[in-house]
Amino acid sequence: MKRKEVNSRRMPVYRDSGFELFTADIAKEAFLRENDNEREPDLYIYSRYRNPTVVAAEEEIMKLEGSDWAVLTQTGMSAIDTALSIFQRGEIIRPWLFFSEIYGGTISFAESILRKRRGLDIHSFTPLDGKYDLDYFEDAVSAIKPELVYIETISNPMLIVPDIAGVIRIAKKHSSRVIVDNTFATPYLLKPLDYGADIVIHSATKYLSGHGNITAGVLCGNDKNIMREAVEYRKYVGHMLSADDAYRLTTQLQTFELRFARQCSSAMELAAVLCKTQTISKVWFPGLETHPTHKEAKRLFGNKGYGGMITFDFAGNKPVKRRRRDSFIQAVSEKIRLVPTLGDPVTILLPVESVWGAKYPEPGMIRLSAGFEDTVELLAVIKRALDKIR
Ligand code: PLP
Repeated sequence: MKRKEVNSRRMPVYRDSGFELFTADIAKEAFLRENDNEREPDLYIYSRYRNPTVVAAEEEIMKLEGSDWAVLTQTGMSAIDTALSIFQRGEIIRPWLFFSEIYGGTISFAESILRKRRGLDIHSFTPLDGKYDLDYFEDAVSAIKPELVYIETISNPMLIVPDIAGVIRIAKKHSSRVIVDNTFATPYLLKPLDYGADIVIHSATKYLSGHGNITAGVLCGNDKNIMREAVEYRKYVGHMLSADDAYRLTTQLQTFELRFARQCSSAMELAAVLCKTQTISKVWFPGLETHPTHKEAKRLFGNKGYGGMITFDFAGNKPVKRRRRDSFIQAVSEKIRLVPTLGDPVTILLPVESVWGAKYPEPGMIRLSAGFEDTVELLAVIKRALDKIR
């Protein structure tokens, strides 16, 4: 059957595993040109290499991050693996420096895979009094001389906002590459490539897809050589996103800014209520003046918002904190579910101790991910739950 052009506004879902190459000469040309690793090939070969529906989704993300390229993968972790692995050369020359307050999965990957299996020299840079000190960072970079520095724009669960401009400036002065995980701030608040980051990665599972129904990851950048390495790595290890998920991601990206703007303003409202509650001893939210990195957040994010995440702790001794935490989770459970992800359409929560163990010693801590649902009923449920807690 001869295929007909269809007057659709959308890139279709191309589920082909292999694409038709017609003749030996065309096949030869396609494979030769594939080695150029251009972002969008004239001839597609095989969906693990490149797929038109995935390229269409990548173009939407490029617009958001303001990047020259984007490379989609099946999860945030596969984006992290790709971003890091392309800097690993057979011979290990210089150490890698990770900020300590980053996603636990990234820390475990660095420890279990990079250090234990691949033998890389991994160092960690820790915050002091809830913020990163740039002078200490410069001392660490001068001493370690890392090949690369890895950082997140808003950390989890303490929501530390590093002075990313300062970090990148110092790292560059010492010839280090910088990889930034921008999952929590999103390009709505911050575009780290503008400050000179080499690669920005996202767990697109979170705000970019934003409906709790896709796992995906993405790397973005401006250096075409890095893009070629990322495309090659994705192809050889098979980190490619499926065409179906790419199609759904493209659709869901259309509402990203609306959704995230709303999540930022809802988080602000929720934080204001939590702050005024006697049984809550502490609220971590970068939009509050009490947060150790409020100044950095204000300078970097302007008036747009401070992200959609809030962490808070109940007052009392440890058993009282735990009791209050459990009563709260129970009291809001009809409306706010305990789900181990973030950036969903509805507000969800996670008890910090259950996930991080003793890393954060306050057992009453709850991490809340604000949704984009109406806040009137949400706030009423939260206030009722807080009133019940004695
Ligand atoms: N980066 C951050 C900041 C995350 O919070 C997560 C997951 O929670 C990841 C990366 C990993 O993403 P994924 O679960 O999509 O593999």
